[in-house]
Amino acid sequence: MCAAPLFEKAPGRIECSMACGFVNYDNPTPVAAVVVEYQGSIVLAHNRAWKGDFYGLITGFVDHGEGPAECAVREVKEELDLDAEPPSLIGVYPFEQLNQVIIGYHVRAAGDITLNEELDRYQLVSPDECVAWSTGTGFALRDWLRSKGIEPEMMKLP
Ligand SMILES: [Zn+2]
Repeated sequence: MCAAPLFEKAPGRIECSMACGFVNYDNPTPVAAVVVEYQGSIVLAHNRAWKGDFYGLITGFVDHGEGPAECAVREVKEELDLDAEPPSLIGVYPFEQLNQVIIGYHVRAAGDITLNEELDRYQLVSPDECVAWSTGTGFALRDWLRSKGIEPEMMKLP
């Protein structure tokens, strides 16, 4: 704010070293992550920017003035060109590595899948064959599968 250097006043608390009182809270960013159910399968997508062969949920940053459930519906339309039914909340999960809070939703969606420029491929996976992973979005998938009586295998992420 005043251009003075920041310093760590206490563990994890970054403040202005002068008198302006600025505190860099570095709050996590809310992200909607969507378990998309389409024709009885789950849509898992690969982001063009990912180097590995990992397929994940549909995700997006909650816009200014937007609710997270609205964001879930918007992202499903933008990224897959599918029309989602009203979302149901699965759970809310920390994702410390990216300083995000993951808000997990399930939707049923219909239409014809067309990927937008963020995604380069997708898979349709039967719920009982889904493998989840131990970060925020993977916990959302795991917990939705558990709600269906399925205990998924958890893959290790690099
Ligand atoms: Zn300052």
